[in-house]
Amino acid sequence: MYTSAHTDRPITPETTPDGTAGYFHNTYLRLPDSFYTRQGPTPLKNPRMVATSSSSCALLDVQNTPANRAALTQICSGQSLWPGSQPLAMVYSGHQFGSYNPRLGDGRGLLLGEWVNTRNEKWDLHLKGAGPTPYSRFGDGRAVLRSCIREFLASEALHHLGIPTTRALCVITSDTPVQRETIEAGSTLLRLARSHIRFGHFEYCYYRGLEKKEKNRFNNLRELADYTIWQNYPDLKADSNYYYPAFFTEVVRRTAILIARWQAAGFAHGVMNTDNMSIIGDTFDYGPYGFMDDFNWHYICNHSDHYGRYAFSQQPEIGYWNCHKLGQALTPLFSDTRLIEQALNSYGTIYTQTYLRLMLDKIGLVEQEPEDIQLIQDLLQQLHDSHCDYSRFFRTLSHYPSDAACALLQQQIGKRWLENYQERLKSNPLDDYTRQQRMKQVNPKYILRNYLAQQAISRAEQGDFQEIDKLMTVLAQPFAQWPEFEHYAAEPPPWGKQLEVSCSS
Ligand code: AMP
Ligand code: MG
Repeated sequence: MYTSAHTDRPITPETTPDGTAGYFHNTYLRLPDSFYTRQGPTPLKNPRMVATSSSSCALLDVQNTPANRAALTQICSGQSLWPGSQPLAMVYSGHQFGSYNPRLGDGRGLLLGEWVNTRNEKWDLHLKGAGPTPYSRFGDGRAVLRSCIREFLASEALHHLGIPTTRALCVITSDTPVQRETIEAGSTLLRLARSHIRFGHFEYCYYRGLEKKEKNRFNNLRELADYTIWQNYPDLKADSNYYYPAFFTEVVRRTAILIARWQAAGFAHGVMNTDNMSIIGDTFDYGPYGFMDDFNWHYICNHSDHYGRYAFSQQPEIGYWNCHKLGQALTPLFSDTRLIEQALNSYGTIYTQTYLRLMLDKIGLVEQEPEDIQLIQDLLQQLHDSHCDYSRFFRTLSHYPSDAACALLQQQIGKRWLENYQERLKSNPLDDYTRQQRMKQVNPKYILRNYLAQQAISRAEQGDFQEIDKLMTVLAQPFAQWPEFEHYAAEPPPWGKQLEVSCSS
């Protein structure tokens, strides 16, 4: 059970920008002050609202009204503080591309506080691009418009595909110049999450503990685990010997499920460093991510990932590797470290079962039969060999066996797999219509293709933010038909397939 010497902070009621509902709770400040540095944002010049997510606003019980957007513009540009918030920069470390970096932390983001809505749900509010902090190292503490828009679109897109993710409330841009390859506009993103604690927070406590000599050198590690469980895993039984093992087991389970969902959706994260892994199993810290256009096992979305450490096909293995690093950091809390092995061993099974179930859903099969693994493997190999568009293929398959679908599918992957599929459907307990309806609920018509994001970014950089709103409309219901937005579901133009996303953000 989490107990702390720090007392509860006063609660300020009625502190949304327009004074409607909810309050800040700021429990992170109860942790010892070595966990963070209190720090306010550095204001941006002449801020403008670029985009706001109404569905994220609803999570906070904040209405997406002109008055609130004006207030949010002030808050997210650091011109004013959200009443009741107590901003801080968190410290953490992490394994980056396989090597341990002992000191990372919020170098350009601030945890504004934890907002509790009228349903008593807690949301961390984190302002990315808020200016320098003690953890900025050589960075300027800023974020640019393109990276904020990419995170904004992706977090909302993944959420509406049913993939656990942080959310995004709004993007602000400004006249503050930021130097990257060229001068760009300093911008911010207001991120929402049930927790901003990363695997790297635990690694920081563990490695700092190793450096100390005293008996209680892992007290901070224990305090962080207790705090995290209290906040995000309240169902775990505090009096049980299995308390920390149960926590770790659950993190492993959520991570395996998350990555299975990425794989089934054709999503590559791009920078699966342990400091970008959420302790609650959310997709976290969007950088040079990508949804695949043509299926390619070896898809690398991160232009700087020269060895393909984070290639699409590597993600399940890296998820395990990251859990292993977390397990190592938690060893001081385990009386029997075999329980760490046991939890890690569950990863493969959970991943495989989840992925298989998701893929069976994508091809409309209800029960799993022994030959289905081969059927799915053959299909993926076929998609890879024929450079077939991943999402469009499954959407077309959702119309099988209409004449139009059959003609297109034969062009895409040839006859043989379709014949096997047809054979397999004979023992599937659904009629064609029902199967098609179910498949259309899991195979999106619209995905956030790189080139679509890029088009929205290019226009926004010219001051036209409408494309973001249009994309958001479609991505909020990616399985629906949008006759007026049919072009978003088309194959990308050749230039759109070759886009390289810059890592500097
Ligand atoms: P990321 O690549 O965004 O996951 O960031 C890795 C680490 O670098 C984190 O500790 C960030 O806070 C920090 N960082 C990234 N960009 C900047 C920046 N422009 N200024 C300061 N710190 C940064
Ligand atoms: Mg990061």
